[in-house]
Amino acid sequence: MRYRGRFAPSPTGPLHAGSLVAALGSWLDARAHGGQWLVRIEDVDQPRCVPGADHEILRQLAACGLLPDAPPVWQSQRDALYQSALDALVAAGDGYPCSCSRKDIEEALRALGLERPRHAELVYPGTCRSGLHGRAARAWRFRVPPGVVHWQDRRLGAQAQDVAEAVGDVVLKRADGLFAYQLAVVVDDAAQGITHIVRGADLSDNTARQLLLQCALGFPAPAYLHTPLVLSADGEKLSKQNGAAALELDDPLAVLAAAGQTLGLRVPSAASLADWLSQAVQAWSGTIEA
Ligand code: GLU
Repeated sequence: MRYRGRFAPSPTGPLHAGSLVAALGSWLDARAHGGQWLVRIEDVDQPRCVPGADHEILRQLAACGLLPDAPPVWQSQRDALYQSALDALVAAGDGYPCSCSRKDIEEALRALGLERPRHAELVYPGTCRSGLHGRAARAWRFRVPPGVVHWQDRRLGAQAQDVAEAVGDVVLKRADGLFAYQLAVVVDDAAQGITHIVRGADLSDNTARQLLLQCALGFPAPAYLHTPLVLSADGEKLSKQNGAAALELDDPLAVLAAAGQTLGLRVPSAASLADWLSQAVQAWSGTIEA
């Protein structure tokens, strides 16, 4: 199997210390396997995107010596691919239209006595599974099969999630007409022939639903590795939303060293960026199982 990995940032702002860890981990894993490394700009969620952040991210990666092996792709230009996957799911009975607003879902859950704990995911109660019964379609959902999904993370080990119970039927196309991340990511990983996914641990609980979607669409499942998160001073995950600072790229070696440390790599002092990266590939090969 030819290794192909990717880094798939959402251009909601420039890279920060946390997102660089995922970028570096995916690059190192590709290099350690003698594979290819691609960059995909995940700008399906247009309202959350910041103009110019895509090019800024590419510049930041380049300043760190992380250069993709093929020209980057932008999800906003790939709607036709997502639509044909949605059509295939609907034709197979695995996708269906849904008329529910957030309020409808909350009311249905309340009627079922299923109050949602604060901040917990809103589990879709399956209202439109049996048809719209005259209501207008707003969104499209994936009919999640029952049962526990088991998968192996290369760093975190054995993982399991009952997607039907924890999430319910996943949105594929949103009420605002935009394709959902879950569909776009699965379609693109398959279309680009991605064999290994290395990304931040905050995305780990999306994996089970993505495996189910891959299976329904007849796509092969990639291998997964979720990298450690960088925490802010208050112990929260560092994110663009909580104001993480953009990387200081006057000294790329220093930012790479910090990211390497989060990945648990021991890289002695290096003479140049290229030297640091090649030592880091060695260190990664020694710590991570294929
Ligand atoms: N675009 C997603 C993000 O930036 C990452 C998706 C993925 O790696 O699967 O959070």
